[in-house]
Amino acid sequence: MGDDREGGTSAFPPNVAEAGIKMEGLGAWARQFNKTHKCKLRIQGEVIRLTIPDVMTVYMSFGVEEGEIRVETIRVFGPREGKGGRYGQSGHTVFQLVTQQLGKVLEEGVKLQNLIELVAGYDTLFISGCRVCGRVVSAEGHVPAVVRRWEGGEWIGEHVTCTPGLAVG
Ligand SMILES: [Zn+2]
Repeated sequence: MGDDREGGTSAFPPNVAEAGIKMEGLGAWARQFNKTHKCKLRIQGEVIRLTIPDVMTVYMSFGVEEGEIRVETIRVFGPREGKGGRYGQSGHTVFQLVTQQLGKVLEEGVKLQNLIELVAGYDTLFISGCRVCGRVVSAEGHVPAVVRRWEGGEWIGEHVTCTPGLAVG
């Protein structure tokens, strides 16, 4: 299958890691994404919003770096937190944790397509069990599996507290 890559884990699905998206191609790319996904992208000025129905709304501010769109900040809110939620942070621990998790991914300098595919992988946030302990909600902290990893052709969820080496605080 050639899934294994040299030098570590492949954290993202294959075949989405083509060239970066340029400003002029952003609208067309988002429309194509919306045709093939249940969650929806919308571009408002310098913010990309991804809505995962009944799960979460994600706001990503972006700039252009070396000609390509680069997401700079990412904030995750509950589906009913309203439009005022675009700034500040979610009032819910679970969305704060997802925000933190995605912030770490941003620091690694991920391409827009990979980032969006990763965020779209959170559609199972409230229903998928943790790969390590099997529970949906963690025994410690009572939060869902907010870590996402691409493995064996699908997104795998893990609790922060169950993931070796990734635990925060
Ligand atoms: Zn777990």
